[in-house]
Amino acid sequence: MRFGYLAVFIAALTTSAMAIEDSRVPGGVAIIPIEPDSRPTFDGKPVLTIKDNGQDLAVVGLPLSLEPGTHQLQNMGKQIPFEVRSKKYLEQRIYLKNQRHVTPNTLDLDRIKGESKRQRGALDAFDGELDTIRLILPVEGPISGPFGKRRFFNDQPRRPHSGTDIAAPTGTPIKAAARGRITLVGDFFFNGRLVVIDHGEGLKTMYNHMDQIDVREGQVVKQGQPIGTVGATGRVTGAHLHLGVILNGVSVDPSLFVPEINSLPQ
Ligand SMILES: [Zn+2]
Repeated sequence: MRFGYLAVFIAALTTSAMAIEDSRVPGGVAIIPIEPDSRPTFDGKPVLTIKDNGQDLAVVGLPLSLEPGTHQLQNMGKQIPFEVRSKKYLEQRIYLKNQRHVTPNTLDLDRIKGESKRQRGALDAFDGELDTIRLILPVEGPISGPFGKRRFFNDQPRRPHSGTDIAAPTGTPIKAAARGRITLVGDFFFNGRLVVIDHGEGLKTMYNHMDQIDVREGQVVKQGQPIGTVGATGRVTGAHLHLGVILNGVSVDPSLFVPEINSLPQ
C-alpha cells in the first residue's frame, strides 16, 4: 500500500515532459532542450514546447518519411542538430472487396483531393494552449493495425499506416484523448466518418472510421468526454478505431503519447 502511495506521489511530481518518451526514429519524437520562451521550427513548421524542471524543451514530431541521419531544429536563428536512427517497420497486406478503395475512379479522386486539403488544413494548424501532452486511451481492444506498417492493399503498395488501429465492436463509445477543440468533422472516402481534436501547440488526435459522431466543429471537449462511436466507415475490413496522433503536421506513433497502447493485446 505504501509503495502504491509512493508511486502516485512520484507520478504527480513527474512533469508533462517526462510523460512521453524521446524516440528519434521516423514516426517518433525528438525532445530537445531550447532557449527559454522561444518558438523553434522544424521543416518550416512551429514546434510544440513544454517546460520540465525549469528547462524549455521542444517536442518535435518526426515524419515516417524522414531519412535517418542528421536533422536540424531551428531555434532563435540557430540550428540545433540531432540524429535520427532508422527503424524498420513491418509489412502488412490487406485485401479489400471494394476495388475503388484500392484504385479510386476519377470522381473519387476529385473527392479525395478536396478531402485531403481539408484534412491537411486541420492537421497543420498551430493554435491554442496545450493542457497536457499525456493522452488517454480512447477505446479498449486488441491492436488490429500497429503504427508505421508498410501497407499493400490487394498487393498494391500504399502509404504506411499513419495511426494505431484498435478493434472494437460498432457502437463502442470513443473518449476524447485530451481536452481540445473539434476542428474537423467529416465523412471521407478513405478515413470514413472522422473527427479531429486540436489539443493546442500543434498536437492533434484523429479518430477515423466512426459510426456515430456526437460532436460538431468548434466545440470544446474535455479529456474522456465521449465524441461518438466506433464503426466501419471508409476503407476498412472491419469495425475499429484508427487513432492518429499528429505533431507539427506529421503523424507520429500514438503509443508514445498513450503508453497503454503497449499493453493492449495484438
Ligand atoms: Zn488505421
